[in-house]
Amino acid sequence: TLDHLVSDFYGYQDFLTADEQRHAAEFRAVFEERVRPIADEYWARAEFPKQVIPWLADLGALGPFVPEVRRFENTAVFRGWMALEMGRVDASVATFVGVQSGLAMGSIHVGGSPEQQADLLPRMATGELLGAFGLTEPYSGSDSARGLRTTARREGDDWVLNGAKRWIGNATFSDFVVIYAKDEADGQVKGFLVDTDLPGFRADRIEDKIALRSVQNADITMVDVRVPEAKRLPGIRSFRDVATVLRLTRCEVAWQAVGVAVGAWEAALAYAKDRQQFGQPIASHQLIQDLLVKGLGNITASIGMCLRASQMQDAGVQKDEHSALAKAFATARMRETVAYAREILGGNGIVLDKGVARFFADAEALYSYEGTREMNTLIVGRSITGFNAFV
Ligand code: FAD
Repeated sequence: TLDHLVSDFYGYQDFLTADEQRHAAEFRAVFEERVRPIADEYWARAEFPKQVIPWLADLGALGPFVPEVRRFENTAVFRGWMALEMGRVDASVATFVGVQSGLAMGSIHVGGSPEQQADLLPRMATGELLGAFGLTEPYSGSDSARGLRTTARREGDDWVLNGAKRWIGNATFSDFVVIYAKDEADGQVKGFLVDTDLPGFRADRIEDKIALRSVQNADITMVDVRVPEAKRLPGIRSFRDVATVLRLTRCEVAWQAVGVAVGAWEAALAYAKDRQQFGQPIASHQLIQDLLVKGLGNITASIGMCLRASQMQDAGVQKDEHSALAKAFATARMRETVAYAREILGGNGIVLDKGVARFFADAEALYSYEGTREMNTLIVGRSITGFNAFV
């Protein structure tokens, strides 16, 4: 059975089915017993703990799109809860899952041919095949809908890709990257399954990050990389199709942000009950209780918003602006909450082994990736006012 988290103050977990609660309990056990003990160490070394990949595959975390492999109903609500459970322990591992099963498999799910889906998705679900998602570029982040400079030129049965990508998670060790590029002929964005061992393809690790240090992000360069037409995703016809992939995953990032807030908040609560100053636990001081309660309010409001956004996704009525609001709101509340937690720990808030510093740092990456707070705000702003304020 799944115990109620102290941070799940309104008992939102009761919205999960009994079966989902059983699977969530398995997630929690594996993350507590196996991932938590190694998370700080790998983060400090800036190394990805690859031993987690089979554990994740056994849990079904990589297989929501693959009926033969997944062990639970593929609902947005459960995928969200899974992201919370993972983010609560290690946002780097949660991000690995987000890239593999959300962005890379999601691209194939949305844009792949039936043959591509049948060939790739089952092997990705078991972790045998690893993918990455290459959209962002050195000169194009928030404006990737219009600003992509990577080009694709059709030559006979092949496409020739040229350009650069930045920040591409898992790409230093993945087997392939879904590369989004502009077709030189029609100017539309198309998607390609690009094997990382192809001539002309190079992925260099981005060094010295201060957030999500275990995630391996790459700078990619492509010089005349030749890809057969059979490796093009036929269902990606323009940026609108890429936006469909992002709409689905953005909500999960919002849930993951709640997980990061929960992880930091739980550590701060335990610390506040234990740490004595002025002859009593700091948890007995009103100002510390104020920080804890504000953090709890942030978490509670964010879970409520994420839950409803995911229910709307399951009902097929979720629009871009719904997931955008959840992502903008939950990440902003996460950033406040991890800062309260750090404050509660005093000096110990900035060292890894006291349980808050890693969440505090990782929050900065979640705040900006998969659409910054500003971009998601403008998506909602456009929807409620009718005015496009991007440009
Ligand atoms: P910019 O777009 O340059 O923005 C800089 C600032 O300007 C931001 O605050 C932004 O909100 C603001 N801004 C921009 N335009 C406007 C405007 N019109 N109005 C107001 N403010 C504006 N990408 C991938 O493709 N694949 C990945 O796997 C991936 N993983 C990532 C992992 C990490 C750890 C990080 C940090 C990033 C990752 N990204 C990935 C890239 C990520 O999606 C981008 O960082 C993000 O979209 C923002 O782009 P940018 O960093 O280029 O910032």
